[in-house]
Amino acid sequence: MSQRTLVLLKPDAVRRGLIGEIVGRIERKAGWRITALELRTLDHATLEQHYGEHKGRPFYEPLMEFMASGPVVALVAEGERVIEGVRALAGPTDPIAAAPGSIRGDFGSITRENLIHASDSEESAERELKLFFPGLS
Ligand code: ADP
Ligand code: MG
Repeated sequence: MSQRTLVLLKPDAVRRGLIGEIVGRIERKAGWRITALELRTLDHATLEQHYGEHKGRPFYEPLMEFMASGPVVALVAEGERVIEGVRALAGPTDPIAAAPGSIRGDFGSITRENLIHASDSEESAERELKLFFPGLS
């Protein structure tokens, strides 16, 4: 089942020069393609819509600050079971709990600065793709 998912390479990944490394892992997966990609700095309005489900949690405000602290790479990946698949490549939210071999497991140590966002369901993907790439058909 071919799907589309929204991926963000967070400001820590861009600052640390890991764009190629992370995009490469997604690109190398057989049959997956990057169909849109853009470097951009996110404003608070966009971030509030993106992370609205977490509003009120203790990590929410620092997460907003962090996500607006520098440019991110927003991209669309397309392919077989890509929603579940990019989440698997990323690993769990806490990078210390993430296995070596996963993006978070290989490069992260701080839960907030965990390098990558990827849509977690078909519903999230549809909503997030509209938010970040409204021009896509
Ligand atoms: P995921 O990105 O794995 O889907 P969540 O949706 O639960 O994780 O959280 C969104 C983002 O908020 C995480 O990727 C991480 O950057 C940050 N975050 C989540 N939980 C915490 C926490 N306990 N402390 C600090 N930051 C957190
Ligand atoms: Mg999430």
